[in-house]
Amino acid sequence: MLLSIVAPCFNEEDVLDRFHERLQRLAEDLLPLGHDLEFVYVDDGSRDRTLTVLERLAALDARVRYVSFSRNFGKEAALLAGLRTASGDCVVVMDADLQHPPDLVKRMIELRAQGYDQVIARRTRTGDGLARTLAARLYYRLVNRLTDVELVDGVGDFRMMSRRVVDAVLGLAEYNRFSKGLFAWVGFPATTFTYENAAREAGRSSWTFRGLLDYGLDGVLSFNNRPLRAALYLGMGLLLCAGLYTGWIVVAALVHGVQTPGYVTIVTALTGLAGVQMVMLGVIGEYTGRIYYEVKGRPHFLVKASNVHPADRAKDLIP
Ligand code: UDP
Ligand code: MG
Repeated sequence: MLLSIVAPCFNEEDVLDRFHERLQRLAEDLLPLGHDLEFVYVDDGSRDRTLTVLERLAALDARVRYVSFSRNFGKEAALLAGLRTASGDCVVVMDADLQHPPDLVKRMIELRAQGYDQVIARRTRTGDGLARTLAARLYYRLVNRLTDVELVDGVGDFRMMSRRVVDAVLGLAEYNRFSKGLFAWVGFPATTFTYENAAREAGRSSWTFRGLLDYGLDGVLSFNNRPLRAALYLGMGLLLCAGLYTGWIVVAALVHGVQTPGYVTIVTALTGLAGVQMVMLGVIGEYTGRIYYEVKGRPHFLVKASNVHPADRAKDLIP
C-alpha cells in the first residue's frame, strides 16, 4: 500500500524541515504495517526559501516529490497540483505548518481499514478567538441552509482519501475550487473524528479577515444558485409590496384628495430599493464573474520547477 502525503507550502521555510522529520518518523512507524509513504510538497510560489528547502529534502530523500508554482496561486490550486501528482492508493492532505498532527495519520489508517473512503479530521476551536469561533458557528449554520452540500464546522482539508475519491475530485474540473465543498460533494462512505486544535509551529497564517470573508462567500456561491433564487423572490416580494402601496395611495388620494406629506416614505423607499438592487446586481455579478473564469479555461497553476517527471504531471496542462 502506497500512501501519499500531500502538503501545500506557502512561505514555510521555518517549519518544513521539522514537518518532514515528523513525516519520516511516521513512515518508520508505518513500514512494519505494510505502508510505504510518498511525500508530495507543493510550493505555492513562496517568497522565502521554501523551494530551496524542498530541493534539499528531495536530494536527501527519494520519496519526496515536489512541484513549485511560478507564483502564488492559492491553497486550492496547490491542493489540486498535489492530488494530481500523488500516485498513492490513498492520499492524506495536510498543512505543512504542523497544525495537522502527522501522528493522526495512524488513526486515519485504522478507520480507513474499516472501509471508509474518506477519513476526516475535525479540529476543535481551542485557541481560536471568541469572535472567530462565534463567526464560524454562525457561518456554518447559514451556509448549510444555503448550500446543497453539508459543511461541518472545524472540518478542513485534513483528511485521508481513497484513490477513487481522489480521482472523483480530480474529475471536477471547475476553476473556482472550494475544496471543502468538493470533498463533501463527491460523497462516498466517510467518517469523522475530532482532534485538539494546535497552534502554528512557526511562520504566520496567511489568512486575513478579508481573505476569510472572501473564502466564506466562495463557499456559499460555489455550490448552488440559491442566492439567485432568493434575489428573484425578494424582487417579486418587493414588487408586490410596491403594487399594494401604490394602490393604497391612489385609493387614499381618490377618497381624501392629494396630500403632500410622504417625503420620508419616498426617500426611504428609494434608498432601500436602490440598496436591494445593488445587492442583487452584486449577486448576479458574482455568478457572471465565475462563468467568466470558467469559460476562459485557464490552467489552475503554472509549474516553475519540479522533480516529478512531466509525464507524471501531464494533466497539468488540462484546465
Ligand atoms: N497555503 C498555500 N497557499 C496559500 C496560503 C496557504 O499553499 O496561498 C498553505 C500553507 O502553507 C499551509 C496551509 O496552506 O500549509 C494552511 O495555511 P495557513 O496555515 O496559513 O492557514 P490556517 O491554518 O491559518 O487556516
Ligand atoms: Mg495553519
